[in-house]
Amino acid sequence: MNTVPFSFAQRDYMLAPHTRYRIGGPARLALFPPTIDDMERAYLWLIESATPFVVLGGGTNVLIDDSGYAGCVLFTTALKEMQSVGERRYISGAGVALSELVRQVMLPNNFEGVGALTGIPGTVGGALYMNAGTANGSICQLTDTVSLLRRDGFISLPLTPDMYSYRGQSFCAAGDVIAGGTFTFTPSTRDETATYRHYMQRRKETQPEGWCCGSVFRNPPGDHAGRLIEAAGLKGTRRNGAVISDKHANFIMNDDNATFDDVLYLITLMKETVQHRFGVELREEVRIIRATSCCE
Ligand SMILES: Cc1cc2nc3c(=O)[nH]c(=O)nc-3n(C[C@H](O)[C@H](O)[C@H](O)COP(=O)(O)OP(=O)(O)OC[C@H]3O[C@@H](n4cnc5c(N)ncnc54)[C@H](O)[C@@H]3O)c2cc1C
Repeated sequence: MNTVPFSFAQRDYMLAPHTRYRIGGPARLALFPPTIDDMERAYLWLIESATPFVVLGGGTNVLIDDSGYAGCVLFTTALKEMQSVGERRYISGAGVALSELVRQVMLPNNFEGVGALTGIPGTVGGALYMNAGTANGSICQLTDTVSLLRRDGFISLPLTPDMYSYRGQSFCAAGDVIAGGTFTFTPSTRDETATYRHYMQRRKETQPEGWCCGSVFRNPPGDHAGRLIEAAGLKGTRRNGAVISDKHANFIMNDDNATFDDVLYLITLMKETVQHRFGVELREEVRIIRATSCCE
């Protein structure tokens, strides 16, 4: 990784400020391609130079090792193109904030789907990767095609329901980059602005404010991870600067300079306790990035 042929490269780049947890050491290299062509050049260079890399959008669903990342973090955050490409049809770059898609496209046009996306932080690319959503639906259900950067170039992939599931998808393989998506929206018969206000208010009432990744665990079938963790008596449990929220048991907060290990300790405690008490295996929703993770 001696010569890096890009003006948008940064070496030994601190990752904590780019995460909602405010946790994570330096990346050996960080790339911020400002255009889609630059993204392709950067990607091809990473592949040709066999540099390990992970992709990051808004960093709202990641927990990164305090020792940082020993490869390259490829940021999509500058891919902010969003435009109308036909009646009710829009393209969005991976780096567009999901909240902008909601507030600048869906709400002004009263399109369906606001209840599925309201209040979810992060980027469109990260949301597609996670198939982010709520009990009201998820982003992939609203997506026509995903633009993917793969070893053999860009492809535009029409999405079908078999390609995604609850907080997961199968279209973005390890080493692929989601460059953006195309959405065809349906006019709603309800007042979507009222829906938006309702769910923003609900989040205020039920979710804590502060440094966190939202829900740490996926909900197990037919139950809620938060209910199980609360029933196991773990609300308020602390490990140094990390604490299981009193307001929502599926949230671990970075309350006071928590470390990667502090959060990981609580994750393990929650999993083991819920398994022991209820025989239910909790699966992480948060993506854990260690120093040598590759192509997350
Ligand atoms: C307060 C709070 C509330 C939340 N509420 C919800 C909720 O209601 N529903 C929900 O689903 N989530 C929720 N989340 C989690 C998170 O916001 C979503 O998962 C979000 O979609 C992640 O987007 P991001 O851009 O921040 O992704 P990142 O955190 O940057 O990345 C997440 C994962 O996606 C991969 N990735 C990101 N971008 C790309 C790309 N372009 N190509 C390939 N891989 C990529 C990363 O490698 C990583 O594995 C919440 C988080 C917080 C902090």
